Amino acid sequence: MNKTILHLDLDTFFVSVERQIDSRLKGKPVLVGGLSDRGVVAACSYETRGYGIHSGMPMKMARELCPEAVTIKGNAGTYSKHSDLVTEIIKEYVPLFEKSSIDEFYADLSGMDRFFGSYKYASELRRKIINETGLPISFGLSVNKVVSKVATNEAKPNNQLKIDYGLEKTFLAPLSIKKIPMVGDKTYQTLRNLGLRKVGTVQEMPMDVMQRVLGKNGTVIWKRANGIDNTPVTPFWERKSISTERTFDKDTIDVVKLKGILIAMTENLAYQLRRGEKLTACIMVKIRYSDFNTYSKQLRIPYTSADHILIPKILEMFKILYNRRLLVRLIGVRFSHLVSGNYQIDLFDDTEEALNLYQALDAIRNRYGDKSVIRASAMGSKTIGRMHNPFNGQPPIVLAHRKQ
Ligand SMILES: [Mg+2]
Repeated sequence: MNKTILHLDLDTFFVSVERQIDSRLKGKPVLVGGLSDRGVVAACSYETRGYGIHSGMPMKMARELCPEAVTIKGNAGTYSKHSDLVTEIIKEYVPLFEKSSIDEFYADLSGMDRFFGSYKYASELRRKIINETGLPISFGLSVNKVVSKVATNEAKPNNQLKIDYGLEKTFLAPLSIKKIPMVGDKTYQTLRNLGLRKVGTVQEMPMDVMQRVLGKNGTVIWKRANGIDNTPVTPFWERKSISTERTFDKDTIDVVKLKGILIAMTENLAYQLRRGEKLTACIMVKIRYSDFNTYSKQLRIPYTSADHILIPKILEMFKILYNRRLLVRLIGVRFSHLVSGNYQIDLFDDTEEALNLYQALDAIRNRYGDKSVIRASAMGSKTIGRMHNPFNGQPPIVLAHRKQ
């Protein structure tokens, strides 16, 4: 039985939110990101694209290319709120959906055709989102996630596209190979060097040739080029979480020690987020006292993966939670409501130093292990750490180095 998969993507999301707040920005070239000389463009309006501007580019360069652009320092809190608003509407309409990033969703509409017509249903949902939030959004509808995502990108800005069953290859063939999800700059160059430019040419190649040139990735790219993809829509995105907890050999009332452990746990989980290119929007602290009563506190926060934002919040929650003068048996930290996203989202500020520091520290952790650098206040808690990457089930590369 064929599936019907919907992909929804908010158009130039950060820019659209800014325009929703200040309508004078409509129709003007807008850049959102870090405003310092070393800041990066997080989002740019369609009006700037003709100048060769794209997200991820240094803000300084973007400003030189388009001096008349309005530049805005992003605000993760505002964007998270608008993202939640859209999520709530989708949740009402489709029980089985996946929030894959702050502005992107997949929904499985299989079986709906009999009752409503899934295209009509998706169109209504899109109309509702636009009416209720004022944010432009596009969608693609097809037999699987990959084809729908490509369809959304072709539909943009602010439009929709349906690829009928059986027409996946025909739809993909004339497109540039750059449009296949997961073909980055490096893969693109490799494919170009092979004389490949259009998806159609990849479709005509034998799969094993692609595999020989690009390894395992080659097979995936070949399948995607041919419109083949069986990845399921992963529901219950709220349940995606990472957590860590510690039961003490001997119950403790040492608050300094407890705080140190919480800091170490937060630092470690935040690093796991960044390594998996994830952000959290909900954090939880848990305490179990020596009498086995367990208390927990949960807090919704703007999407982030930055230690300097997470640690103070965790300590604040602990302060509220730890109100019984009793020995503690267990403490734990959990991050949930995870979505894919780059941690630069919290770093709209003039904090390239912070960004550089994170990159440098994470590079050390990637190489020498997740406990190789920790905050001084967490020094007493060296045993906090994970041995594997929670997002792919793979052990970290660092274990190999550690033994040497
Ligand atoms: Mg988007």
